[in-house]
Amino acid sequence: MPFRKLFQEKFNLFYIKMLANTLPSIVYILLFLATSNSQSIPEQTNFSTDALATNLGEVESRENGPNLEFRYHDHDELTRYLRAISARYPALTALYSIGKSVQGRDLWVMVVSASPYEHMIGKPDVKYVANIHGNEAVGRELLLHLIQYLVTSYDTDAYVKWLLDNTRVHLMPSMNPDGFAISNEGQCDTIHGRHNARRYDLNRNFPDYFKANTKQPQPETEAVKEWISKIQFVLSGSLHGGALVASYPFDNTPSAIFQSYAHTPSISPDDDVFRHLSLVYSKNHAKMARGVSCKSGSPSFDNGITNGAAWYPLTGGMQDYNYLWHGCMEVTLEISCCKYPPAHELPKYWQDNRQSLIKYLAEVHRGAHGFVMDENANPIERAAIRVKGRDVTYHTTRHGEFWRILLPGKYRLEVTAEGYLPQEVEFIVIDSHPTLLNVTMHSAKGYVQSAQPTKLPAERKAPLKPTPVDPNGAIVFPKD
Ligand SMILES: [Zn+2]
Repeated sequence: MPFRKLFQEKFNLFYIKMLANTLPSIVYILLFLATSNSQSIPEQTNFSTDALATNLGEVESRENGPNLEFRYHDHDELTRYLRAISARYPALTALYSIGKSVQGRDLWVMVVSASPYEHMIGKPDVKYVANIHGNEAVGRELLLHLIQYLVTSYDTDAYVKWLLDNTRVHLMPSMNPDGFAISNEGQCDTIHGRHNARRYDLNRNFPDYFKANTKQPQPETEAVKEWISKIQFVLSGSLHGGALVASYPFDNTPSAIFQSYAHTPSISPDDDVFRHLSLVYSKNHAKMARGVSCKSGSPSFDNGITNGAAWYPLTGGMQDYNYLWHGCMEVTLEISCCKYPPAHELPKYWQDNRQSLIKYLAEVHRGAHGFVMDENANPIERAAIRVKGRDVTYHTTRHGEFWRILLPGKYRLEVTAEGYLPQEVEFIVIDSHPTLLNVTMHSAKGYVQSAQPTKLPAERKAPLKPTPVDPNGAIVFPKD
């Protein structure tokens, strides 16, 4: 039901936009009435006292600029801050909720981009999700500071402007607000608050490629699954605490026997890319790449990176799911030895991670991207994209877009779509900018169906050129 989904998406965006646009104006009017003549505040308003108080707080923020202190923000404070930012920076941000936690707290996402409300066709969407473990609290605050940094730097920092002009950045400060609500500042190693309100570990709650996951799906996980099925995210980071390392797929391993004792890597088809992405984070971090262990007895990691399963295998993790189900490359970023350090240490964490958080997202602009179209330049949705030698399939969006993060080198792209002849395209990736690859698919109609897969004519393997269109309307196939 793509139309229904599309409609829902549009409706949600419209609703958010309308709220964002109208609430501040209504509050301004009320505030104006209140300051000019308190008697004239209409007795019947649609605002509850709480709502009015909240929104007056936002108005204050609009005048002074949203103020973000280095301290932990509870769910209400976090909500107020995000609303204040969206009111103050309506052209750069959009606030939406992907659903609610078990206890009814909104799972907020803030988009920061030059196009916050609309996907920019041809440009990628990326995300960070923090606080999936409720007691791992640093990432939650760092994402609030990242929002602040991005919106206040857009006009003055050319790199931030380039990033936001070419990328939609979706930031979810807390995937587990219920767990955070019962967690305690200063607790470095406990698991109190790690789980959601029904005591499920959300990072063990996703479908698993290697092993059946029998855990009951939780509302927080279901909301994330729905979210990443609607938006084609290309790159993602999941922020955790309790170690200092960038841990990349796979988290789980095909070897079922002695699984929990195996410390052997579980290598993904894009191991080179995942290692690179992880190194970008660790090397731009103040300390991570030194690979020093957090305390005696805990592991140290070469260059501050590790394969997930080599550290310890787990079933139902979010990063394997992102990659294998949705073609979104996600790395687990463990950013603090102490899970919930004292608030006065937050400025240090922000300084240590600021560069990494931004440079990591910019890696989405590495590799190849483009469109898959038919002979009439109509986009082909759900075309299967494979890079030869990498046994993982990505799919095109409804605009026919695809992205493939790759290191410099020579590759071959295999594209298949129902009703079309398969295509193979050779291409080169260089370091300095992404390769644009537009692939035109030719209808399989008129070709004699055989039991064997269609063999590609030799010329089709040549680098792609614009497909000639026959002026008589007939489909032109390249000559064998
Ligand atoms: Zn964690």
